[in-house]
Amino acid sequence: MILELKDICKDYLQGKMVIPVLKHIDFQMEQGEYVAIMGPSGSGKTTLMNIVGCLDQATSGQLFLDGQDISKCTENEMSDLRLKKIGFVFQNFQLLSRQTALENVELPLTYAGVAKKERRERALQALTRVGLEDRVNFQPNQLSGGQKQRVAIARALVNRPKILLADEPTGALDSTSGEQVMELFQSLNDEGVSVLMITHDSEIAAKAQRKVIIRDGIMKKEEQP
Ligand code: ADP
Ligand code: MG
Repeated sequence: MILELKDICKDYLQGKMVIPVLKHIDFQMEQGEYVAIMGPSGSGKTTLMNIVGCLDQATSGQLFLDGQDISKCTENEMSDLRLKKIGFVFQNFQLLSRQTALENVELPLTYAGVAKKERRERALQALTRVGLEDRVNFQPNQLSGGQKQRVAIARALVNRPKILLADEPTGALDSTSGEQVMELFQSLNDEGVSVLMITHDSEIAAKAQRKVIIRDGIMKKEEQP
């Protein structure tokens, strides 16, 4: 099992009011699975993804990532996990604008303390994997949206994560680049990478092996039409 959530709740505080955003979420994912999360805007999808991605902590409940109980981790242990086990892809790419594609992809390796030569090699390899070997020295503003997202995917892959998390990765792309990005996720999953993806698009979600729906902080299995 790559991922297991047990009775996860997340509340936000708004002044003195407690706003429950995730309500008793139970969810499991096997190594190598490709799961899509759908649900209306404001239903808690990003909140859930940030907890799974160790960017945020749940208010209560347990989260196991690759068998390890995250709920008890310190900040340092969480960032270590983010670095070693998780690849995160955002809707708006989150690339550093003054760095080249290669430098952006190298960044997680720099944090992980990988030596320069190996960093270069692995970043090049990851960029080649996403079809951007001829764009390594371009900065984000010299790349199309689809290319930027592929750089972001290369960055997510470069540490060989156990799981790839994607929060509406095609949300800012035109349909053709969106399809290319989806094909990339598909082929990465074929190679054995576990993929958990949030999407609004039911056509995209149909490409996953399994769908779950979040509505008002409650997770349900795919609803029958
Ligand atoms: P989704 O990604 O499904 O659109 P989010 O997880 O971003 O939904 O948000 C779920 C709910 O949590 C929303 O009602 C939002 O207003 C609230 N929310 C998200 N982040 C915060 C925050 N930092 N503080 C307070 N409320 C928040
Ligand atoms: Mg969201």
